[in-house]
Parts: sequence; structure tokens; C-alpha cells
Amino acid sequence: MIYKRSSALFEEAQQYIPGGVNSPVRAFKAVGGTPIFVKEAKGAYLYDEDGNRLIDYIASWGPLILGHAHEPVINAVIEKAKKGTSFGMPTEIETQLAKLAVSMVPNIDKIRFVNSGTEACMSAIRLARGYTGKDKIIKFAGCYHGHSDSFLIQAGSGAVTFGSPNSPGVTQGTAKDTLLAEYNDLESVKALTTANKGEIAAVIIEPVAGNMGCIIPSDSFIKGLRELCTQEGILLIFDEVMTGFRLGKGGAQEVLGIDADIVTFGKVIGGGLPVGAFAARNEIMAYLAPEGPVYQAGTLSGNPLAMSAGLAMLTQLNEHPEVFQSLAEKTEYLAKGIEKVLDTHGVVYQMNRLGSMMSVHFTDEPVVDFKTSVKGNNDFFKKYFHGMLNHGVYLPPSAFESYFLNDALSYEDLDATILALDTIAPTLK
Ligand SMILES: *Cc1c(COP(=O)(O)O)cnc(C)c1O
Repeated sequence: MIYKRSSALFEEAQQYIPGGVNSPVRAFKAVGGTPIFVKEAKGAYLYDEDGNRLIDYIASWGPLILGHAHEPVINAVIEKAKKGTSFGMPTEIETQLAKLAVSMVPNIDKIRFVNSGTEACMSAIRLARGYTGKDKIIKFAGCYHGHSDSFLIQAGSGAVTFGSPNSPGVTQGTAKDTLLAEYNDLESVKALTTANKGEIAAVIIEPVAGNMGCIIPSDSFIKGLRELCTQEGILLIFDEVMTGFRLGKGGAQEVLGIDADIVTFGKVIGGGLPVGAFAARNEIMAYLAPEGPVYQAGTLSGNPLAMSAGLAMLTQLNEHPEVFQSLAEKTEYLAKGIEKVLDTHGVVYQMNRLGSMMSVHFTDEPVVDFKTSVKGNNDFFKKYFHGMLNHGVYLPPSAFESYFLNDALSYEDLDATILALDTIAPTLK
């Protein structure tokens, strides 16, 4: 495959944009080579600036669960844009999207819209601190909650890729209020709650992790975590930026059967436009300005353009919940196909998968947390990534990212992907 124009565009971008990209993982640092510049996309396919067609397994990192340029979403955005894109005043569509989201997700009464997952998680933590009157939070190594200061402590994916899990610019003062536990290890959380008794506002977790590859919580871990938080008066925050409206209508809360205290959203909820949100029961949301004292605001928050994309997307998912089953079946089909090829070629790997999230780790140990995730063989991953790319398959360009399947993928696309792997497998050793 030829990437002549992508190369040239990347050269030029680097002169004006740090590293040539507006979000680090796009730069291909983890896998080497030239980032692909996209010209357009439709359904399951990306078309790059060199005219290559790629089968896409990241779907803009999750939002495009029904495929690129999905007609109902695109049409809603076009119609809305003609009537003005932002007013800084209330609009009816904000209530429409809020009402729909609240009806789909268990255990939430009210929702506040922001512009990104980062903003949602940052605001959720402030709300938790304001509500509990406590300062400290617990996060898990390898979980990513956006790039706000409190969370850039062993933050998974992008941050790990660059080998600086603790970013310069995050002050010691901020870092000291973020305590670090191990995923799937309840004892590590108990040790922290015991040592910091009465000081912890919230535990924030990716209920199914997707930023150290896909990692599923054990039943005893996630149930134990819920019980521990209730016992200690700590709010449990589910960061459902990835899992929300992807694992099912009600996200991970519904799939795992766990009620969180605050839930954050991003990605799918915006249908491909910049939207984040956080939600909780009435008594917690009542702490938020202007109803309560915890300040949070946004010039473009809830703008009609973004809301129209979100509303069209959630309406589709709400009216066609069979999409989630269809996606899970496609993901299983792909995973089984990949397993068969890797087994045939004697490749050592771990396959983690839930719903339409999956990841392949090239290691002989089960991947259950950050420590086991980083044991994957990255040299092998690079060859795998570039091999697949050369055969027209776009996988996440980092071993620490989950694949996100979209429902526009056909079984022919999945077969083509498996065939591509079969073709490159002999060269992987
Ligand atoms: C992507 C992601 C975020 C950050 O969302 P942005 O919109 O990129 O700011 C937060 N949490 C999780 C779990 C994510 O996957």
C-alpha cells in the first residue's frame, strides 16, 4: 500500500501542530510509520488521502457505533446546522437528549452535558468532592479518564505509549490526592480506604477497562467494590465514556448489574460530535450549579449541533436495541476467526472481549490488570499492526487500545480481516 500523500501531509502538519496531531495516539509513535490521513469515510470503511480503502476497527475511538457518516445522524446535523449552531441559551433539544439518556440508563435522574469525556470525568470528580466534602480519589492503574490533572497518574493507553505515565505539569499537590489501586484487586482498594479512612470522596473506574486493552472486571471484584464504597461512604463513579451506549442501552451498569453513584459519558453519546456528560441521582446532581454550590459551566455545552447528533444516535440505539446483540455476535465471530489463525500459527496471545470491545495481547499470561497488560510483546504487536494495515485493515495503533466494532461491518469484512491475518501470520514470527 502507498502512503505518499499521507506522508507529505504529515510532514506539513508537523510544522504547524506539535507532533503533527491533535491527540497523541494518532501519531503512530507506538507502532512507527506514517499516520494515515483520512479523506472521508462511510459505513465500515475509511478512505485515505492516497485512495486506499481501510476496514476500520476504531470508529473514531468508539463514537461511530453504527458506522461512519450514518445517514440519520448526518441528516440531523445538517438540518440543525442550517438553523444556527450555538446560542449560549437553552434549547429544547437539550431536554430531549437528557430525557432519552435518562430513560435508557439505569439509576440516573439527571444529566449534565459537556464537550468531552475529559470534561465529564473532571466535573464528576469535582461534584463527588463537593457532595462528600472530601478531597481524595482512588483510580486504577491503566484506567484512563481523560487528560485532566487528577487523572494523569498511570493513565493507560496514550500516556503509557509515551512512557510517561505521570505527565510533567501535574503538580505534586494535585497528584497527592489521587491514590492508585490495581484493577481486579479489591485488597489494593481496601488497603487505601483503610490507610485514608474518612478522606476519600470517590473511586473512579472504567467498569470494563478499554485503555490497557480490553479488561473485564471479575464479578467478585466489581461487587466487592460496590459494597466497600457503600460501607465507607465513598461515591462509586463509573467512567462509561467507552462503555456507555456501547455494551448495551444501559451501558456497563446494566451489563454488570451494578448501580454506580455517578456515571460519565462521552464518545457514543455525541454520535461523532464533541459531547460528554455526567449523570447521577437527584440528591447528588442537586449539588451542581445553578441548583447547588459546585460550579461547572461551558460556552458550547449542549449546543444544538452536538445535541442533534447525540439525539439521532441514541434514538437509533433505543429503537434498535438488537444492534448490541448483532455487534456482540460480529465481535465473537471476528475473535474466533483471529484465535483460529493465531492458534494455527502457534502464536502466543490472550483474547479479551466483551460485547463490541475486544483486544489481542501477545503474552502467555491472562491480562487482568495494568501489570499483565504491559507484558505484551510490543515488537510483535507492531508487525501485526503494520501487516494488517498493508492488507487494508485499520486496527488501533497501540497495544493498549481496545478495538471498537461498528455495526456497518459485514461478515464479508470480518472474513477479509481474518484472511488478512492468515496471509501475514507466517511473517510475524
Ligand atoms: C476516551 C475516554 C475518556 C476521555 O474522553 P475525551 O472525549 O477523549 O476527552 C475518558 N474516559 C474513558 C474511559 C475514555 O475511553
